[in-house]
Amino acid sequence: MGNESCKGIGVSEGIRIAKAFVYRQPVVHEVKSISADCADAEAARFQSAVKNAVQAVEDLIARSANMLDEKQIGILKGQKSILADPAYVPEIEKRIRKQLIPAEQAVKQVTEQFAALFENMPNPYMKERAADVRDAGRRLVQILSGEAGNTLSSIHEKVILVADDLSASDTIQLDRQYVLGFATEKGGKTAHTSIFAKSMGIPAVVGVTDLLDHVHSGDTLILDGENGECIISPDEKTLKIYREKMEKENRQRAILEKFSKQKAVLADGKRMIVAANIGAAKDTDFCLNQGAEAVGLMRTEQIFLSRTSAPTEEEQFKEYKAVAEAFPSSGTGSAIIRTLDIGGDKETSYLSIPKEKNPFLGYRAIRLCLDQKELFLTQLKAILRASAFGNLRIMFPMISGHEELTAAKNMLQEAKSQLDKAGIAYDAKIPVGIMVEIPSAALMARTLAKEVDFFSIGTNDLVQYTLAVDRGNEKISYLYDYFNPAVISLIRHVAQAAHDSHISVGMCGGMAGDPLAIPLLTGLGLDELSMAAGAIPQAKYILSKVNTADCRVLADSIADCTTPQAIRIRAQAFAKEHGLLMDS
Ligand code: PEP
Ligand code: MG
Repeated sequence: MGNESCKGIGVSEGIRIAKAFVYRQPVVHEVKSISADCADAEAARFQSAVKNAVQAVEDLIARSANMLDEKQIGILKGQKSILADPAYVPEIEKRIRKQLIPAEQAVKQVTEQFAALFENMPNPYMKERAADVRDAGRRLVQILSGEAGNTLSSIHEKVILVADDLSASDTIQLDRQYVLGFATEKGGKTAHTSIFAKSMGIPAVVGVTDLLDHVHSGDTLILDGENGECIISPDEKTLKIYREKMEKENRQRAILEKFSKQKAVLADGKRMIVAANIGAAKDTDFCLNQGAEAVGLMRTEQIFLSRTSAPTEEEQFKEYKAVAEAFPSSGTGSAIIRTLDIGGDKETSYLSIPKEKNPFLGYRAIRLCLDQKELFLTQLKAILRASAFGNLRIMFPMISGHEELTAAKNMLQEAKSQLDKAGIAYDAKIPVGIMVEIPSAALMARTLAKEVDFFSIGTNDLVQYTLAVDRGNEKISYLYDYFNPAVISLIRHVAQAAHDSHISVGMCGGMAGDPLAIPLLTGLGLDELSMAAGAIPQAKYILSKVNTADCRVLADSIADCTTPQAIRIRAQAFAKEHGLLMDS
């Protein structure tokens, strides 16, 4: 056996060869009750798990003392004190004995109740303890279900991670030094897990059916993030082919590197802004190295994920200021800071986001911010304060119509007034824009354009909402296509509306970085394309080979196409004709 190939969706390019590390989420076995005779043994099993958990936390503190900051050590110590809390462990044991339920279930029940108690306390410090409780509970369940060695933080050698699914916050915590790539059974091309993988430069394949039935930890794996392929236990011949492909990738990267140093200019001299999508200030250096002329999207939610409480105004200010300083007022580049877009497939334990049946249609982004006003004001003040240190722009996500935009702008005005009262400096002329990612906003573009300084089209959501296709669902990913004529027609309308109102229009969804889409988007009149930093050199290379008139002809020529496939074929023919694809 061996050399078995599994197909999925390639979401972050790159070929990697390494041993597999299979990560399984701990499962609570659905045993509803235990017999009275087993209660003593079950309680003893639980007490031994508690001992192991305390030991594991102590080991972690000792082992990582030099690598963790005070806050992280504080979190671990918090877990340790929860495990010693007289209201926690004894209550779990009581439930095992009195209600005769398995230890895992007793831990889950008590943990949730205990966490809710903390969550409802008015004191912010006590509120934060809810996350410590949940972490302690998770650790106990992992030990009880025998999965303790199977955590993402236990990866200390170079591997390809294989999992059923990874959350967005799992992904941003991956250690790039060890996790060379990952493959999952679930997931879609523009789920945030995939987006974060791409922006972190981690090759990834998602939506691989039954992957976990085929791969075992320790198997050699080839991961092809471009073609969406995983090859398990490859033979020598296959290994040779893929090693050669990796070498070719490296050669192409070297050719493209020189474009990262150049401005994005079309063959006829027309300028286009090629910008980067970032998640945190620490990404700025890499994106500038790759040739970003601006930041077209900072997904600020990354600062909010994988924490136990919301970042303070000061913490956020430092983060945004560091980005602003990379784009000083004396230069032409700027950075768009998008206000918090949490909810959907990005969850936190501390923002009281209820479990919803349709999270992507629910309490997310601007809707959550307009409801949790203090959270929103804190962020707006932090961004405004940072705007005194460089060219920043503010962008609101998920705007669905005029009223929502007015409400968001009123909040911005409130944040400005508070800073004025406190005598704190900010850029009074900071440009304000919106993401156009909901079809209603796209259709209302002419009205909305009168109210803002810029648009940025978010195709990741625009596609899912226009075509009613969940962006994270691998089963219907065949329907998810930004070349769909309905989507292209909305993009065309938004670009025209923006230009008629003399405001700029960019794109920061995944389509903007697709080599095949770039000439079409240029022809549709976009002024800025913002993408994962790694895609920038190739985008500049493509732009250097095309001219405005040809791109417009392409954009006009697809107006009569009735299917995504027909548009894709024209885009491919254009790319071939102009020698845009490096492989051809
Ligand atoms: C988008 O929807 O295209 C976008 C850029 O935002 P996000 O992917 O963060 O939802
Ligand atoms: Mg979006």
